[in-house]
Amino acid sequence: MSQLLTLAVPVYNEAATIQAFVDRIVPVLSSIPDTRWEFVFVDDGSTDGTLLKLVAVAGVDKRFRVLEFSRNFGKEAALTAAIDAARGEAVIPIDADLQDPPELIAQMVQAWRDGAEVVLARRIDRSADGVLKRKTAAWFYKLHNRLSDTRIPENVGDFRLMDRVVVDALKQLPERQRFMKGLFAWVGFRTVTIDYARAPRAAGTSKFSGFALWNFALEGFTSFSTAPLKIWTYLGIATALGTLLYGLYILLSTALFGNKVPGYASLFVAITFFGSVQLISIGLLGEYIGRIYVETKQRPPYLIRKSYSADKH
Ligand code: UDP
Ligand code: MG
Repeated sequence: MSQLLTLAVPVYNEAATIQAFVDRIVPVLSSIPDTRWEFVFVDDGSTDGTLLKLVAVAGVDKRFRVLEFSRNFGKEAALTAAIDAARGEAVIPIDADLQDPPELIAQMVQAWRDGAEVVLARRIDRSADGVLKRKTAAWFYKLHNRLSDTRIPENVGDFRLMDRVVVDALKQLPERQRFMKGLFAWVGFRTVTIDYARAPRAAGTSKFSGFALWNFALEGFTSFSTAPLKIWTYLGIATALGTLLYGLYILLSTALFGNKVPGYASLFVAITFFGSVQLISIGLLGEYIGRIYVETKQRPPYLIRKSYSADKH
């Protein structure tokens, strides 16, 4: 009895790496005993000939399937589509740029057979990423895990193995904005962690700029924590108390020593301070309301133009 593994691969403008990816990963998969494998590639609206490369691969071997999105929906949507289409008893999301070492899969499968339902791959060495990316990532995990009840494991990407029960649980989550790291963590299940060193990209460049990462982090906070909504009450109480004390002080000093200074400076500071606190808190409400708005529209997280598989021809 052989078990079917699905490799779920989101792909966006990776024409330069597809062939190298397939050439490196297929021998690894074939060497794992008692397994069959399939690939679900999701072409996330690439503009550089990635789709042609994928279709060429899928045309000769029905173990490769390709889903073509109608446009770029982002990695989270592409990964969701790949996981939705997976047929395997275990599903392994993996990046197409060879930053996730395929050699680790044999170990993951072993841990799965030993009883794990989720096998995480933790990066122990992120020197392939820049200093800024590493630092900001570390801050994100710290802050997120302090604010939210759903703990996201640090230095763990989407590269992991999930048993079919976990995949089916994920597919039940109805949200449209899919912060996958958070969803993965939220479903739980019996989890084992394997360490590895993260390789540099095989070719091409990262698709995530500074601002994209910032938005990604915001998505994470607001999807899994309401703490940012609640702190304003306490901040308000604290500043109100401070203002009361300051008012008493002014009252006393005026009664005792008369009004020496016209209070432009203190007035100005107080007004701008409270103005900015209010703007920040309104902005935060906006972040959540914006997300509620997007969810209520009930749009599908992605649209598929066409799927390709040697099966159908
Ligand atoms: N990706 C995607 N859609 C996007 C951006 C990225 O499907 O809009 C894919 C990309 O092709 C790669 C994976 O997501 O397979 C990870 O992207 P990248 O390597 O750019 O991210 P990084 O490793 O820098 O975090
Ligand atoms: Mg990468």
